[in-house]
Amino acid sequence: MSSRAEEEFAIEVCNVSKLFGTGAAPFKALDDVSVNIRENEFFTLLGPSGCGKTTLLRLIAGFTYPTEGEIRLHGSNIAALPPFKRPVNTVFQNYALFPHMTVGENIAFGLQMLGRPKADIRESVDEMVKLVKLEAVKNRRTGQLSGGQQQRVALARALAPRPKVLLLDEPLSALDYKLRKEMQIELKRLQHETGVTFIFVTHDQEEALTMADRIAVMSAGRILQVGTPHEIYDRPADRFVAAFIGETNFLTADVAASTDGMAEVTLPGGARISAFVAEGGQPTGQVSIVVRPEHAEIVDREAVAHLTGQLDNIVYFGTDTHFHVSLDSGQRFIVRRQNSRITGAVLAEGDTVGITLDNGAAQILKD
Ligand code: ATP
Repeated sequence: MSSRAEEEFAIEVCNVSKLFGTGAAPFKALDDVSVNIRENEFFTLLGPSGCGKTTLLRLIAGFTYPTEGEIRLHGSNIAALPPFKRPVNTVFQNYALFPHMTVGENIAFGLQMLGRPKADIRESVDEMVKLVKLEAVKNRRTGQLSGGQQQRVALARALAPRPKVLLLDEPLSALDYKLRKEMQIELKRLQHETGVTFIFVTHDQEEALTMADRIAVMSAGRILQVGTPHEIYDRPADRFVAAFIGETNFLTADVAASTDGMAEVTLPGGARISAFVAEGGQPTGQVSIVVRPEHAEIVDREAVAHLTGQLDNIVYFGTDTHFHVSLDSGQRFIVRRQNSRITGAVLAEGDTVGITLDNGAAQILKD
């Protein structure tokens, strides 16, 4: 019988490394990765191409095996279980549907392979078709469906055997922008209604922020940070995470004093502000700080400003406007202002401006 602590997690990845190739220089696709994924969680693996996301997913599915380390499912080591014996199913990027079979037949296929009774299969297919809202096209061949409808069939087929964990490998990347947005909401609904643990792979940071309960940011075979979208965006652990998630500003500053989790820093130009310290950091001397563009405001040069510079570019995005500033210190800084009907001061390229930083906006990075 497993202990309570073990039961808390659907998946535990413990010190997993994966090497490809043999000889003197095998390639390390995963390097000592550890992460725990909770039951009923929408968990996202986020990182640039080649960072090891798919490899980690394939290890959980059982399509390949770790060189070192262990993967546990609900507390039990699943190393010996072949893919079809794991209560885990995968939705692939290309859907892998049978184009000459109907929607219903595609959904039924996996259940038939598992030897489920016919009456159960009929019931499951009806339930799944309803869940993904495809009742109207149940008897249509999948080759005659739109991309979004095919995506729904792939999801229904993967959910039909009632897996405990669903692995989704960039499942929305073939869809156009609008459909992708719709499917993001749909996926959240499906996860919520079924209670299945979703592990979702993407390189799209916006997708990760909008969908995930928690995100693991990966780079070069390692997990750099695990946290809620809010933690990852607002409190990035290091420079890579800060730069990969959204737009951001980096500044160099000097630490004047530091206490538990906070430091007083002097900005280029002499202004003094408080900055958060990333977990485990003990900053001294010159440091990098990060400030999100929406946590700063352009002010009159004469006003009390934290930074000063010249406005190089004004870029209008409809919902907001970006102001690109060359600071007097030589660094670059972007301020994002949300557009509203109440207009602020009229600014023009070439203006000399000041910038104020919101209270709590700055964070010192572990470099
Ligand atoms: P993408 O977003 O492009 O799919 P990814 O983060 O999913 O990337 P992986 O597919 O996990 O990345 O690959 C990680 C690294 O391992 C890559 O450099 C890849 O070339 C390498 N790799 C993956 N599979 C193999 C293999 N079978 N043999 C050799 N190298 C491999």
